[in-house]
Amino acid sequence: MLIRGGWVVVDPQTIIKDAAIHVIDNRVAEVGTWSALRERYPDDEVVGGATSIVMPGLIDAHSHGRGLSPIQKGVLYDYLENAFLDWSSMVYLPNDLCAALSAVRHLRMGCTSIHHTGWNDEGPKALENAHLAIGSYRTSGIRLAYSPAVRDRNRFCIDEEGFVDTLPPELREFVTPMTRYDAKAIADDYMNLFETLHASDNSPMTRVLHGPSWAHGTTDDFFTRIRDSAAAHDNTPIHIHTLQTPHQRAWSIKTFGCSLVEHLDRLGVLGTNTTLGHAVWLSERDIELIAARGTSTTHHASCNLHVRNGISPIWHMMKQGVNVALGIDDKSLNDDDDPFMELRMSAVLSRVPGFDLGETPALTSAQILSMGTVNAARTLGFDRLHGTLQPGAPADAAILDTASMLHDPWTSDRLAIPDLLVWRAKGQDVTDVVVDGKIVIRNRRFTTMDVEALYAEVRDYVKHYEAKPASPERTAALAALRPHFHAWHRKMLTYLDVSEPFYRVNGRA
Ligand SMILES: [Zn+2]
Repeated sequence: MLIRGGWVVVDPQTIIKDAAIHVIDNRVAEVGTWSALRERYPDDEVVGGATSIVMPGLIDAHSHGRGLSPIQKGVLYDYLENAFLDWSSMVYLPNDLCAALSAVRHLRMGCTSIHHTGWNDEGPKALENAHLAIGSYRTSGIRLAYSPAVRDRNRFCIDEEGFVDTLPPELREFVTPMTRYDAKAIADDYMNLFETLHASDNSPMTRVLHGPSWAHGTTDDFFTRIRDSAAAHDNTPIHIHTLQTPHQRAWSIKTFGCSLVEHLDRLGVLGTNTTLGHAVWLSERDIELIAARGTSTTHHASCNLHVRNGISPIWHMMKQGVNVALGIDDKSLNDDDDPFMELRMSAVLSRVPGFDLGETPALTSAQILSMGTVNAARTLGFDRLHGTLQPGAPADAAILDTASMLHDPWTSDRLAIPDLLVWRAKGQDVTDVVVDGKIVIRNRRFTTMDVEALYAEVRDYVKHYEAKPASPERTAALAALRPHFHAWHRKMLTYLDVSEPFYRVNGRA
């Protein structure tokens, strides 16, 4: 197969004009000019065209594969902590439908690899649920990293035992069962699940990673087991939501007398195979530590804004050489998982006012594109050349139509292609998608899935849920709980000092 473009982005630094990629089986065999490659391979099938941009398929290094967003389920976003209460009454589709929908949403926008970090990996159905999701992703043709994710501490909220003590008796009765669990059994089940999935599903198209849900939701013992298991499995990546909210940072200072990042380092969990999801409430020292250990982070620009987490200091991290990757986290700006929009959001959020006009607090377009390609690839543990279209790389490519980028009505030729992609491309421009050398989308139509049939199945499933009223007792208990929940989190912030922000966006005095 030949993939042809007016411009071929081999990697964020290498763009070739009037070029093509020759694909043999599932790999890029050769990159060259269109005329030379066509002459040599006159009978090969051609994807793309003279006015297309061909680029490495984008990589979402952090999502949960929930298919429908909370907004689609009628639940608006709020502070993450409030969201947990709100989300507890949402409809949840079965894992196979969620995964199929997430694959559709990603592939059609040019994302050829997704990291699904789990949300229902406990209980007797954990393995079955994981296999339902993995099966759907496999059918769709997307490249998949899958991490089962559980918590064996702070499951209800930070410092949950202390929180229960602040509640009046009737609410204490409601919350207590949710804070009583067997942490050792949760960790044991998780380790068994990981081992089983790794043995059955880890392959060149599917990587099984470790995914302890939260740095503050994982006991030291559990972290030690995960660290050792990752090392025993050829340094399998470990992906952890870390310091997403100021409350999580405050809890760590209260509990360990240091930042969660420092605590992870003491446990030997920070390493080149570890990725910290979100990483919003880092200190300067945290960033130095992350850089020194070669640890990665994922940046979920719109998600962090949606759930009022703040802005991750990615400019400062990248300045220190931290590998920062794209994560969409099911909460994108247009609620459609468009990776181009998320990259653009990352770019604008790092363009904060510098007080010295000579300093440039802005990332280059090549750096931004790297977040969604080579940087993201590094966090998932696939092939060394994953995220590029260099000879030998897995043939994962997105092909974009340039009509709206270039001819609406005119865009200067002087604009470099990385700048054009970062500032004007949309997921909707994607016409064709190739994953592992197979055409998954041709002329905007899936070759692997019947999307209309999937949509019909999803609508049929949610129809029954909408007809079912929520439990009035539960709704009342959650409403009564909310002020106590807020007071508890507010109190936690007394341990926090964030008077020196990374990004100054306005001033009060
Ligand atoms: Zn997440």
